[in-house]
Parts: sequence; structure tokens; C-alpha cells
Amino acid sequence: MSTLRFDDRVAVITGAGRGLGREYALLLAARGARVVVNDSGGSLTGDGTDAAPAHEVVREICAAGGQAVASTDSVATAAGGRAIIDTAVDNFGRIDILIHNAGTVRRGSLKELSYEDFEAVLDVHLRGAFHVVRPAFPLMCAAGYGRIVLTSSIGGLYGNHEVANYGVAKAGLIGLSNVAALEGAADGVRCNVIVPSAVTRMAEGIDTSAYPPMGPELVAPTVGWLTHETCSVTGEIFVAIGGRVAKAVIAETPGVYRPSWTIEDVAENVDGIRDLADAVIFPVVPDGHRDHILYSFGMADARSNRAGAQHG
Ligand code: NAD
Repeated sequence: MSTLRFDDRVAVITGAGRGLGREYALLLAARGARVVVNDSGGSLTGDGTDAAPAHEVVREICAAGGQAVASTDSVATAAGGRAIIDTAVDNFGRIDILIHNAGTVRRGSLKELSYEDFEAVLDVHLRGAFHVVRPAFPLMCAAGYGRIVLTSSIGGLYGNHEVANYGVAKAGLIGLSNVAALEGAADGVRCNVIVPSAVTRMAEGIDTSAYPPMGPELVAPTVGWLTHETCSVTGEIFVAIGGRVAKAVIAETPGVYRPSWTIEDVAENVDGIRDLADAVIFPVVPDGHRDHILYSFGMADARSNRAGAQHG
């Protein structure tokens, strides 16, 4: 296969001053993209600001012959999000790729987590996604082209201890991605979710000594493909962890149909309700929402048709 390049493409990457985002920025820039390296700096908890990480990545890209500009605005406000997208338009005249990757962590058990820590994490991950998607999406639709990648987490799929804020935000991003995929489909805008895992500063305090190699360079190619024009999927969730690249799905059991239910009926049928054999998946695009409803109604119709046939 010939090298997949990003010539003439403009990419905005939030949280690109460190860790995974930095790796995405270096990869896309090395393949010809002009990159807005956004990062407000600051600590893992999101306290403080530091312009150095974004500027350092821009320096690295330019030193290697690439093109990039720094943006130190925060994704946590609507004004910051708009300024980040404006940086792409003002400097490069367009936006083709948006990777929302910025992230912070504030830990606390559900019994103790403060509202401040809950909101602060949602502001960066979930509202932050909306703050950049909202101004970028109409531009992409008008141009008839766009690639968006939003960043979820294992904690968004399966939860994790002491991060209710993070789990909520990372699950919510899947909802935003689904809607962007649906509403962007007719205009050539594709949106997918990455569930990355890599040893970055986010692994601080975790014993990673038994981990397999888990650098950000094992995640970046998947995000690179999801942002490339050859990316053929939308509304999907890709996983990249320790060299394993996979797709995560929301699946349903076929379920049990009855024309009426009691609590006891649910109890008696719970094994069938939960039986994952013949599980069904409704792809978001073209219309998982409708397909879910039609599948469900189809079971009722099949029953009433059978009953009608028996009586007829
Ligand atoms: P990181 O801390 O190395 O990088 C995150 C970057 O986001 C930092 O440079 C930080 O300054 C920046 N940032 C924070 N708040 C910002 C804001 N308001 N505006 C702009 N920039 C801001 O962490 P990472 O591991 O590279 O994480 C990147 C993304 O991947 C995050 O969304 C994280 O939740 C997600 N993720 C990471 C892992 C992992 O294993 N590292 C696992 C699951 C999900």
C-alpha cells in the first residue's frame, strides 16, 4: 500500500502538547498535515497553565520540516473552543481534521467526589468536545469533508473506581460522536471514537512495570487512519491498547417478546433476556436508532401475524 498522506489537510488536535496528542500531531505533520497544536498546559488535574508544551511540539514539527501553529486556549470554555478552531481557519484557511484529545483527571470516590471536581473534568472532556465540535462541524459540513475523532476511555466503556466524573464524560463522548456521525454523514463528515491506552503522565501512580510496551506510538496510527480520507467508517469505536487494535460495539441480545409482562415474567425469562447468543448490533449510521425500533417492533409484528394466521 502506498503511504497514506495528509497533504493539504489541516488538523486541530487538542491536548497535543504532551502524551498521546503530541504523538498524533507529530505523525500527521510528518505525513503533510498542517497542524494546530492546542494545549493549555497545566497539571494533570487541570490546574494552572503553561504555554511551553504546545510551543515545544510546534518547534519539533517545524524543525522536521512540517507546518504547525500553537494554540494555548483551553477547551473548557465555549470561547476557548471557538478560538482553537479560529486558529486553524486564520492560519491555514480551513479545517479538515479535529481530534479532541485534551484531558485531565481528578480522583475521588463516589461517596466523596466534589461537585467542583465533577464539573471540572466534564468541562475539559465532554463540554470541551462540544466547544470544539460545535464551531468546527458547520465548517466541515459546508466544505463537504471532515474527520473527527473524540477520545473515550476504558473508564467510559466499563467504568473505573474513583473517577465518576471521568467515566461520565468519557461515556458521554460516545453519544456526541454518534450524533456527529449521523448528522455529518450526508456531508462527508465522519466521526469516530478512540479508546486509547498508553503510558503517559496519566499513568502516574499506577504500577506499569508488568505492562507490555505501551507507548503512544502504538495508538497514533489508528487515530491517523480514522482521520485520513480513506477512513471508511463512521459512528464507530476503536480500541488501541498495548499493540491490540480492536473495535468496541454496543450490542443487544435478541431479547424475549411477550405481549404483556409481570415482574414474575421478567424473573422467569431473565436468562433468555440476557442470552448473548445471536446478539444484534445496530450500526449508528445509516440509522441504528430506527433499526433498533424496527427490530423491536418486528418481534411484536411477528407474534401478532402468527396469532392472526392461527386465528385466520
Ligand atoms: P496527558 O496528560 O499526557 O495529555 C493531555 C494533555 O491535555 C496535556 O498536555 C494537558 O495540558 C492537555 N489539557 C488538559 N486540559 C486542557 C484544556 N482545558 N485545554 C487544552 N488542553 C488541555 O494525557 P494522555 O494520556 O496523553 O491523554 C490524552 C487523552 O487520552 C485524554 O483525553 C485521556 O483521557 C485519554 N486517555 C488516555 C489513556 C492513557 O492510557 N493514557 C487512557 C484512556 C484515555
